Amino acid sequence: MSARVIDGKTISADLRGKVADAIHRLRRDRGIVPGIAVVLVGNNPASEVYARNKSKAVTESGMAAFDRKLPVTASESELIDLIAKLNADEEVNGILVQLPLPKQIDAHKIIAAIDPAKDVDGFHPLNVGRLASGLTALVPCTPMGCVILAKTVRETLAGLEAVVIGRSNIVGKPVAQLLLAEDATVTIAHSKTNDLPTVCRRADLLIAAVGRPEMVRGDWIKPGATVIDVGINRVAGEGGKSRIVGDVAYTEATKIAGAITPVPGGVGPMTIACLMLNTVRAACAQKGLPAPKV
Ligand code: NAP
Repeated sequence: MSARVIDGKTISADLRGKVADAIHRLRRDRGIVPGIAVVLVGNNPASEVYARNKSKAVTESGMAAFDRKLPVTASESELIDLIAKLNADEEVNGILVQLPLPKQIDAHKIIAAIDPAKDVDGFHPLNVGRLASGLTALVPCTPMGCVILAKTVRETLAGLEAVVIGRSNIVGKPVAQLLLAEDATVTIAHSKTNDLPTVCRRADLLIAAVGRPEMVRGDWIKPGATVIDVGINRVAGEGGKSRIVGDVAYTEATKIAGAITPVPGGVGPMTIACLMLNTVRAACAQKGLPAPKV
């Protein structure tokens, strides 16, 4: 039996469509156009592509995009000044600072400078703390996407043994918090975990967010498990070209897992869709409106 493929492209397109409908209703019924500022510092080619894709998706969904660019030499205080202006701008409901930042800038200070109500990445310590406390929060987009994908193949995550490989602030820790909120029994594994294959083998739901190409082998997977692969790794392909693979050895895993996300086309497209959703939620909360039905 081959695993069911969790099609992130289709699921994210559906979510983006629902978010676009919510934006349309906000504009039609209340004259509100949610806006997001995408801040890019420097000219890291990958960051430029990510920032451009986010701005494009924002515009396509009917929201306003305010692109802000600073040179690679920008100081921490210049960036903090820009964030203060965006915090005060009523047309800007969400602020996203593309990471990584140049080395002279402390990302923690920058994230802390963003108004938590506009923190659509969900990285501000207040949102992190609210999520951990079980309160309403803006939650990080990739982890939110992982949970949405898992729920397309599992009626409930309650009671499942979930293993998350990776403990970054961006993916591993917040996805673990979201799974806990779904009543899963959660283990967070990392580079110091003893006997990782055995830990993974007990997972009904395995989330790999490591950044190591095809590290998770087929025989690490419990038969029938749901596997969500967050990894994006560029490796050498045929004819001198490169290709993208995940953290899971996909061909092996499909023979054992019950359901699995492909790379590309799994978690990746969900991240932007969840960013759209977060921005509409932020805009509604700032205007004192109930969260949109999506
Ligand atoms: P990160 O900050 O580098 O964290 C990697 C985590 O993996 C760390 O906690 C590390 O453990 C753990 N790890 C490293 N080697 C390991 C090993 N041999 N065994 C077990 N654990 C190990 O990476 P990240 O930002 O979380 O991203 C992870 C992956 O997801 C990357 O491929 C990234 O490109 C991808 N990603 C994709 C999206 C998307 O939209 N699809 C979004 C974000 C990230 P320690 O803490 O002990 O060092």
